[in-house]
Amino acid sequence: MTITTRFAPSPTGDLHLGGAWTALASWALARSAGGRTVLRVEDVDTPRVVAGSAERIVADLAWLGLDWDEGPIAQSSRTAAYEAALARLDAAGLTYPCDCSRAEIARAASAPHAGEESGETIYPGTCRDARRDRDFKRLPATRLRVPKDARVAFEDGVRGAIEEDVARVVGDFVLRRGDGVFAYQLVVAIDDAEMGVSHVVRADDLLGSTARQLLLMRLLGYPSAPAYAHVPLVVAPDGARLAKRTPGATTRELAAAGVAPEAIVGALARGLGLVAEGSGPLTAREVAARLRPPSAWRRTPWAMPRAWAGA
Ligand code: GLU
Repeated sequence: MTITTRFAPSPTGDLHLGGAWTALASWALARSAGGRTVLRVEDVDTPRVVAGSAERIVADLAWLGLDWDEGPIAQSSRTAAYEAALARLDAAGLTYPCDCSRAEIARAASAPHAGEESGETIYPGTCRDARRDRDFKRLPATRLRVPKDARVAFEDGVRGAIEEDVARVVGDFVLRRGDGVFAYQLVVAIDDAEMGVSHVVRADDLLGSTARQLLLMRLLGYPSAPAYAHVPLVVAPDGARLAKRTPGATTRELAAAGVAPEAIVGALARGLGLVAEGSGPLTAREVAARLRPPSAWRRTPWAMPRAWAGA
């Protein structure tokens, strides 16, 4: 089997170390096996898109020594594919319009145990069986009618066996917002399936989305689904989440401070456990040549070097 991986940044700012890390890991996984890489720009949530950010991210990835066989493919160019998939779900009776406001959902969902596991509000199903030809209070969102037997199990390359009952943990989730924006869960499931991605390598703050995406791929009838490897986050030297104001958190800042791309690649590769211990700079190609399997990669957050934060 040809390994195909993808890196899927949202163009909402410059490439930060967390993005560089998942980009490097997914690129190296493909390249170590003579596989294919896809670069996908996740720009469907237009209000969050920062002009020029996609071009800057593409340039920053090239500066790190990463290249792509396909892309950049912008999700904004794939509207017809998303419409078609949504129409298939709709024809199968698997969607319904929902005009509940956030406040209404929060009030109705305040039953004990709601969202305890996912930390998300479980949609209480208010609109599930409502008439579709009613007068809507606002432009309705489209939700997935999550089937009762929505148990999804997968083997994560880094984290091991994961199992989730989507109906119980998240409930009927949104596929398209009232303002017309397709939901992340839907577009990622469609793109990963239709772009032939065999291995999804991404940050583990998305681990909780994987069961939803696998469920959608199953309901959409794609013949196969990717394998997953969720890598830990890169954090600031004090353990806090990287934020725009974290100094040295973007590759551009580090480049401006004179840090070489090989120094960043070497530190990330060892921090993540992509390669065995050692020290010194590495090119992306050297990482691919020495790549250890995902089961040997790091599982806990990795703090960026203090020297970089002071750079
Ligand atoms: N676009 C998402 C992000 O930048 C990543 C999506 C994914 O890897 O599934 O956080």
